[in-house]
Amino acid sequence: MTLGRIALARIPATRGTIHRLFSTTLSSSSTNRTSPPLSRHMSMKSDNLVSKLTSSGLLKTQGLIDGKWVDAHDGDTIKVLNPATGEVVANVPCMGQSETNDAISSAYDAFRCKKLHTEPTVQFSKMLASMPSEGNDTWMSPLQYDLLISHKEELGQLITLEQGKPLKEAMGEVIYGASFIEFYAEEAKRVYGDIIPATLGDRRLFVLKQQSHEFLQPVGVVGAITPWNFPLAMITRKVGPALACGCTVIVKPSELTPLTALAAAELALQAGIPPGVLNVVMGKASDIGDALLASPEVRKITFTGSTAVGKKLMAGAAGTVKRLSLELGGNAPCIVFDDADLDVAVKGSLAAKFRNSGQTCVCANRIIVQEGIYDKFADAFSKAVQSMQVGDGFSEGVMQGPLINEAAVQKVESFVEDAIFKGAKVLLGGKRHSLGMTFYEPTVISDVTEAMLLSRQTKLEVLVSDWGLIQVYNGACCGLHFLFRSLKYFGLHSVDISSISFWEEVFGPVAPLLRFKTEEEAILMANNTKAGLAAYIFTNNVQRSWRVTEALEYGLVGVNEGLISTEVAPFGGLKQSGLGREGSKYGMDEYLEMIYLLYPDEICLLRRHEQKMRFKVCYQFAAHNHKVIWIAESVQSRPFEYEA
Ligand code: NAP
Repeated sequence: MTLGRIALARIPATRGTIHRLFSTTLSSSSTNRTSPPLSRHMSMKSDNLVSKLTSSGLLKTQGLIDGKWVDAHDGDTIKVLNPATGEVVANVPCMGQSETNDAISSAYDAFRCKKLHTEPTVQFSKMLASMPSEGNDTWMSPLQYDLLISHKEELGQLITLEQGKPLKEAMGEVIYGASFIEFYAEEAKRVYGDIIPATLGDRRLFVLKQQSHEFLQPVGVVGAITPWNFPLAMITRKVGPALACGCTVIVKPSELTPLTALAAAELALQAGIPPGVLNVVMGKASDIGDALLASPEVRKITFTGSTAVGKKLMAGAAGTVKRLSLELGGNAPCIVFDDADLDVAVKGSLAAKFRNSGQTCVCANRIIVQEGIYDKFADAFSKAVQSMQVGDGFSEGVMQGPLINEAAVQKVESFVEDAIFKGAKVLLGGKRHSLGMTFYEPTVISDVTEAMLLSRQTKLEVLVSDWGLIQVYNGACCGLHFLFRSLKYFGLHSVDISSISFWEEVFGPVAPLLRFKTEEEAILMANNTKAGLAAYIFTNNVQRSWRVTEALEYGLVGVNEGLISTEVAPFGGLKQSGLGREGSKYGMDEYLEMIYLLYPDEICLLRRHEQKMRFKVCYQFAAHNHKVIWIAESVQSRPFEYEA
């Protein structure tokens, strides 16, 4: 099979799979509001699952440094919880600066010794992925991509255990995550440089992304910091291209979801990744971040997470002038025009809003609906949301799991309270689910305006003169929740918070519906944010779809479709949603250095000498024929020294 055919066959398959996983659960169920709250004790089911995963060798509970599984130096650990039940799934090391420094040394040694570079790029790419050979070569085995796919079920179970998303969605993430390993293993063969047309004739100009004809020009040691909402895919989206380019990596997964990262690292070891090439540390986030930032040996930080932490890393990277890729928060508008197909718009908005319980950076944060279709859409959308089954991600037919933790629920509550306080109407849900723990009801809120926290990014600055100056910083969701409760308690309902500026996505299963009249108004509302990651448009008017797409300040736009991520397309935001792109051929450049090479052109000099000689002949001939002189002069664009 050729690479081209593999890629062509895979695009619809991957998208189709993720879409299908989402929509099967969507159509099958009714809301479960009567089940009793789940216990915090380890249930028999979870117990069996954990022992099954332990015996499969995939439940790793140590960090990985220099190819060895290690504890924190002081033996400190952190608990990894199942958000659906609150039970402890495992204890993992709580690492900090010294373990991170060990990981940096091992990654640096691996890079410097050029352990990778003893293998030409093409060989290395074979090592990364299990792909059929085009020629007579055989692929190395066991291999990373194959191993991820063949352990899809166990990895999916780990994701559901520690992150909470429904198992089918989790297995969809494994396929999506593995696709980056496969894609970049192929892509390593297609790193091209450039030949630049020179302005001076006696030299040649090149752009090299390779050290020789076989080896790429990697950035060096990479620190990869990832969030909890996609415990596998956010890692492979970084590690795939980094390793394919020949970088070595220190991965820092979220302390909330380290188990999937550790399992993937175990599979990488089984696939033959040399010691030090891939390291995993977790624990004290800011200590680990500081160590990565301070080290001159780490040449790049790639980060997916909140805009607040991204900004900190950006400032910290200045000290050693590191390269940065930042995949930060979004505030995605989903615009439904009067001329949209209602079913397509409902299905697409549902997928864009409720995937992973609304906890993705590309989740529709504001559903902006034109007035002519607003009521019909609100009705049909609410019906569709009502049919979503909520529960433990391991239960059959469940479409929405728990939120990641209590702080996440409190933030959702405070945003909903703010909207109700300012006149929005709850069409569906609007409170914690009767399942207890961190389950929240799938919620639809109408009459949302841009003054509400649900739809705008604001930064809380000055409040309530009775209490003096109160500041709530980015990410202080509990503080915000407390603040609203306190304001109510003191009867301070009339406090003006419209000047407040607080940048947060709701990051939960709450769909706010806003109303607009004209296309211009929709575009203004959509762009009225500091974020610029994903946007969605629903319309049957082709000209409008192009016009609006071009006016939107977003890195990703989905037209009549709510699920848009794929490994073959560039993923990344404009404005404060980040820097750089992940996925696709563009994601490769983030891990490669570019060298400009000027080369005196010996051949050209030689040719010029020949030309001189030829010109001499022409000139001599010209004594007899004037036309030839004219041709000779036009061929020679620069003043030319010649002897008559
Ligand atoms: P977060 O709080 O920024 O955490 C992301 C990662 O950064 C975690 O591993 C976290 O560690 C770590 N971290 C926190 N403080 C740090 C520091 N001072 N130095 C170094 N690392 C630090 O974000 P999150 O709550 O996990 O994820 C949700 C956010 O990610 C949302 O804003 C979402 O929009 C964004 N996101 C963006 C994309 C994208 O592609 N644009 C994709 C997914 C998610 P601990 O968890 O261990 O504290």
